[in-house]
This record gives sequence, C-alpha cells and structure tokens, in this order.
Amino acid sequence: MTRRIACLTLDVEADHHDLARGRFYEALDHEPSWEWLLRFSRDRGLPWTAFVVGELLEARPDLASRLAAAGWELGLHAYSHDPAQPDTLDEIQRGKAAFRAAFGYDPAGYRAPLGLVTLDGLRRLQAEGFRYDSSLFPAWRPGAFNHLSVPTLPFAPVAAAPLAVGAPRLIEAPCAVVPRLRVIVSVSYLRLLGLAFFRPALALFGLPDVAVIDCHLHDLAPAPAAHRQLPLFWKLVYRRNRGRGPALLTWLVDWLTQAGYEFTTVGAMTDWARETIIHD
Ligand SMILES: [Zn+2]
Repeated sequence: MTRRIACLTLDVEADHHDLARGRFYEALDHEPSWEWLLRFSRDRGLPWTAFVVGELLEARPDLASRLAAAGWELGLHAYSHDPAQPDTLDEIQRGKAAFRAAFGYDPAGYRAPLGLVTLDGLRRLQAEGFRYDSSLFPAWRPGAFNHLSVPTLPFAPVAAAPLAVGAPRLIEAPCAVVPRLRVIVSVSYLRLLGLAFFRPALALFGLPDVAVIDCHLHDLAPAPAAHRQLPLFWKLVYRRNRGRGPALLTWLVDWLTQAGYEFTTVGAMTDWARETIIHD
C-alpha cells in the first residue's frame, strides 16, 4: 500500500459521558472550541467524520443542526453510549432511528462506546446495512480490553458468505496506534503522554498507512463541570495538558501532512479499502 490516508474523527457525546454521573454539555457547547475546530478545518481543508450518540440527537436537536451545517460525514456512536451494551441490536436499531429522524438518512458508519465492539456486534452492524465500523483500538487498556492482536489497518471482520447480493461488506477501520508500541494516537492520548513521548515515537516508528484519529470536544475545551465528577484517576488523566488540545491536534495534522498523508472521511477511506486492500 503506497497511499497514506488520515481520517479525523470526532466523538460527539455528553461531556465525559461514560465517567460522569449525569449528563453535562459544557464542553460540547463550548462555542470558542467549535469555532476554532471549524475554522482550523476549513483553513486546512480537513474533512471530518463525527460519530454522534443517538440519545443526544433526541435530547439536543440544535446539535443535529450544527453538525448537519458543518458538512461533515456523520456516523452513529451507539444509542445510549452504555458500555454494558455497546453493540446490541436494540442499541443499533434505536440509534439508527434517532439518526434517521435527525438527518433524514441512515448512518453508514458506527462507533461503539469505549472501543467495545464485539464480533457479534460487527455481524449485527453488517446485517443492519452499515458499511463500516470504526471502534477498535488495536491496543491494550488494562481493565477494559486487550486488542493487541487486532490489525492496525482496515480489515473485513465478518465472513462474506451470508451477505445478500450487492450488500457492501462491513469494513472495520481501527483507530491509529504507534506501530510496535501499540500506543493509541488520539487527542486524549496526545494530552496524556505529551509531545515528549509522541515526537520521538512518531519519528522512530511512524504511523500505519491508514491513520484514524479520535478526538472529543472535552479535549479541546476548558475543563467542564463534568470534570469535577470524575474518579480521581481520570481527573488526573484529563488534567494533563488541559487547554493544549488544539495545539496538539495542530501538531498531529502538521506531522501527518508532512509525512504525505491525505485527509479523507472514514466512509471514503473504507470504500477505497474495500476495493483495493481487503482480500479474502
Ligand atoms: Zn464515546
């Protein structure tokens, strides 16, 4: 594979959805962060793929309008973002219904909460007509998952046989990790480990030829009220490099650009991968 492709992705959810008690929208509604993100993306010609929580679309129709106006590719980030049911049929179908009600079409892409997609979930997504999933982190997160054996490039996780004729095969687009080290490359991880780690790591090991980068509004905005609700460990994690999210994202986009990556949506990238690099 000679093409190098980067996909910027934004998870649109309540602030620290999985960790905070209750729903907070302070980072999500932080206007200067949105303005910065939209201006930065427009100036650099960067397309984004945003994965939106279905429940949030119902609670906040204004957010649906904002996302539709941004002209980004939109996908589904589960219905309720419940780690206990990341990819059940109910989550997928209710999420699809909320997405369709908000945007008028079915989502092509899915992202499970916290990277917790299962093989059965991927089968359900394919049966529900999804063209791609972008949930897996090919890394190890103690207490959450061990996905060290997951490929770092797009792959077809579900057997082709049961597919209806003409139905697209589901492609999994794993999130970027530093090759060999298998450290996740997302804006949260850039904040956590800083450039003292990532500058030499990327210089030494580079990134996979397809790099899907994850970002949240709470990575870009000042500390929201939900931050005070976090368990101590996560409070410390998210305190690191607070306020440096935009600078770190800019650094990564510059690195990718200089390394010859072209930026496209996850949908366009997985359509290309399905035709060119996926073989049975
Ligand atoms: Zn999420």
